[in-house]
Order: sequence, then structure tokens, then C-alpha cells
Amino acid sequence: MSKRIFRAIWTASIVVFLAALVLIMGASYKYFTGVQQKQLKNETILAAQGVAISGMDYLDDLEGLDYRVTWINADGTVIYDNSANQDEMENHIEREEIQEAIVTGYGESMRRSGTLSDKELYSAVKLPDGSVLRLSITQMAAWSLVLGLGQPICFVILIALVLSLVLAARLTKRIVEPINNIDLDNPMADMDAEEYQEIVPLLHRIHSQKEQLIRNQKEIEKTALIRQEFSANVSHELKTPLHAISGYAELLENEMVKEGDIKPFAGKIREEANRMTKLVEDIIDLTRLDSGGIMQWEDCDLYRIAENAVDSLEAVAAAKDVEIKLCGESAPMHGVPQQLYSIIYNLCDNAIKYNHLGGSVHVEIARNAEGAILRVTDTGIGIPEESRERIFERFYRVDKSRSKEVGGTGLGLSIVKHAVLLHGGRIEVKSKMGQGTQFCVFLPKNKN
Ligand code: ADP
Repeated sequence: MSKRIFRAIWTASIVVFLAALVLIMGASYKYFTGVQQKQLKNETILAAQGVAISGMDYLDDLEGLDYRVTWINADGTVIYDNSANQDEMENHIEREEIQEAIVTGYGESMRRSGTLSDKELYSAVKLPDGSVLRLSITQMAAWSLVLGLGQPICFVILIALVLSLVLAARLTKRIVEPINNIDLDNPMADMDAEEYQEIVPLLHRIHSQKEQLIRNQKEIEKTALIRQEFSANVSHELKTPLHAISGYAELLENEMVKEGDIKPFAGKIREEANRMTKLVEDIIDLTRLDSGGIMQWEDCDLYRIAENAVDSLEAVAAAKDVEIKLCGESAPMHGVPQQLYSIIYNLCDNAIKYNHLGGSVHVEIARNAEGAILRVTDTGIGIPEESRERIFERFYRVDKSRSKEVGGTGLGLSIVKHAVLLHGGRIEVKSKMGQGTQFCVFLPKNKN
């Protein structure tokens, strides 16, 4: 960046300098032309007085003049010329300055001389006898003037180049210095400094981006920790049924099981295998929700989905002597049917699992202006107050042995929470120990 600033400043100063030089040269050239013309006129008037008094003698005495002096008769014939042979010179009556002098007493003109586009300035004065005295001088063309002044101009340009180089370097340093000096760890500390006023918006942006980075970093670290914990928990949860299965199998293999106990042993092996299957299914579900994989969003009716979930749990409920009922109304919404099913299924499954014998589960679907409401109310054991926040954590169980006994994985409510958030909804829980629990899920019709 400093290179670009330096180049910009330097180029700008050189362009300004050259433009100023050209303008000054132009103005001086014009000024000096005027001075030269005036001087020529004065000299001509003086010389004319001399010639009027002393005639040719005056002219003969003139020596070492820069001027060309020409004396012309009233008829235009040249009587005298100090730089050419007057006899060979043509008649001058048609010359502009001569004509003007004859008519008005004084005339002047300017003509290009043959050489190098220099100009010839003429000044002519009419003498009392009708003849005309003319003085002329060569005025150099502007560019030959520049050439003539070549050495001093080069010197000035050189000084300007060096000066602009030094100034551009210093200026660049002064511009870039505050930016280089920004304390990236604490950009707002420089806010009050006088020279930092122009970069205050930049400081604000650095500050907010830094905060964002810190937040992201914390988020990444937290996610990594959760993943790590999750993997550790998963292996632990899988190990338990695997050990049990392998233990039972070993006993059977070594024929250490009585003939009559073989059936219950096989039943235990199946139970543990089922627990593993459920665990793997839940993990797959959670991983899918976590990775934000492709979800099939479509228009659906929450009531229809609830009907399916309740249907598939009816046998489980009956086995536990729990009555499960669905009521309410159709609630159309836009969502992922598979995840909505998972929400209802897991909540009802828990309501059955953590219920009393002869208890009941009441599933209700309602709708309001925002969307659909799902209420799952049970007459079960209830959730202690201090655990209500934590039940949505992965592998959190209020009573570990009870959860295992009823085939819980500790992942059901995490899946529910994830799926609710996916739909932009929220979940609330009310519970009374020993009396029952109600989960209330609010789902918007359309996720914004
Ligand atoms: P789990 O597979 O153990 O049921 P969940 O994530 O579904 O895991 O639930 C977490 C814990 O919350 C359960 O272990 C249980 O202690 C408690 N819980 C969930 N639902 C209910 C309920 N309806 N009644 C009482 N306790 C419940």
C-alpha cells in the first residue's frame, strides 16, 4: 500500500510541478515579448531623433548594435541597412510597419523570420522629411528559449525531482504510520488519537471482526469439545451392551447355562442387541441433524404425522398398561415429516416409558395464527425441577438405571430439541413429581 501511496504522491507532485513550469514559461515569454517590443519602440524613437538631426552621420557612428537598423525613403527604397547591402534590397513600401509609420507616424509588426520559426519584431518611425527609420530585433521562439535555458531548467527539474522524492517518502510514511501502528489486539485504544480520526471506521470494523473471530473460535472450541464428549459417550454406551452380549455368549459357549435358562439368556442377548440398534439409530438421527444434511421439506399435516406415531406406539403402550390417546385438529405446516415424526415419537415414547402402570398419555394437536402446537401430557413419574434444563443434553438421564431398564439411550430429547430448532420452533416442559409431565412444542407454519 505504501508503494502505491508513494507513487501517487510523487506522480501528482511531478505533474503539478511540470504544469507550473510550462505556465510560468508561457507567461514569462509573453511578458518579455511585451518588454522587448516597448524597448524597441523607445530605441527607434531615439534613433529617429538622431537621424533627423545628424542624418547618415548618426547611422555611420552606430556600432556593435543588437538591432538591425534600416532607413527607408518615402518611396520605399532602402537608403541604409546595417546588416545588408541597401542597393540589393527590394522596395519596402508594402511592409506593414512602414505603411503604418507613413500613415500614423509610428508602426510596428511582427513576422516569422526564415530561420527556426524565430520571430522578427519591427518598429518604424516616420522622420520629418517623410522617410522612415526602422529598427528590428529577432525574438527567439518559445522552445528555443527553453533550449537556451536548458541548463538552469534541468537543474530546477533535478532539484524538484529530488525534493518531491523526499517529500513523497516522508508523506507516505506519515500516512501509513498510524495504520501500521494500530494495536490489532486492542484497536479501540487508538480511537482518541488525533491522527487516527480518519481511520475510526476502520478501527470499528477491525474491532467487530476481531470480536466475531473470538466468538467463532469459542464456538469452534465448544463444538469440538461437545463432539469429543459425544464420541467418548457413544463408545461407552456401545461397550456396555457389547460386553453383556459377549458375556452371555461365553456362558452359553462353555455350556455353563442350564438347559432351562438358555431361553432367558437368548432373550437378554436380544434385548442388549435391540438397545444397541436403538442407540445406533438415535446416533444416526442426531448426526444427520447436526450435519444439516439434505432434508425433505414439504407441506404436511402435523395431525396426520401424530396419528402415525401414536399408531406405531400403541403396542408398546399396551405392553406397559398405559393408555395413549390422540385428539385435536388438523394442523397444516411446512416441515420435514421425518423429523416431525421423530419429535412426536420420542416424546410419546418417553411419556410411556416413564409412566406408571395403568397410567395414560394424552397427545393433542392444536393450531393458532403462528402455526401448530403439540402437547404430550403423561401421568408418569415427573422430572425434578433441577433436571428440567438438562434433559435435552446428550446422554443426560435423570435416573440412569431406570432409563436403561426401559431401553432409553439418553438421546431422545436431544433429537427432539434439534428437530424443533430445525423447524424454527420452541419446546417447553412442565412437570410435577409423581404426577406427570407435559411437553409443549410450538412449530411455526413456515420457517422464515
Ligand atoms: P432416554 O433415552 O433416557 O429416555 P431422553 O433424552 O429421551 O433419554 O430423556 C432424557 C431423560 O429425561 C430421561 O432419561 C428421563 O430421565 C427424563 N424424561 C424424559 N421424558 C420424561 C417423561 N415424560 N417423564 C419423566 N422423565 C422423563
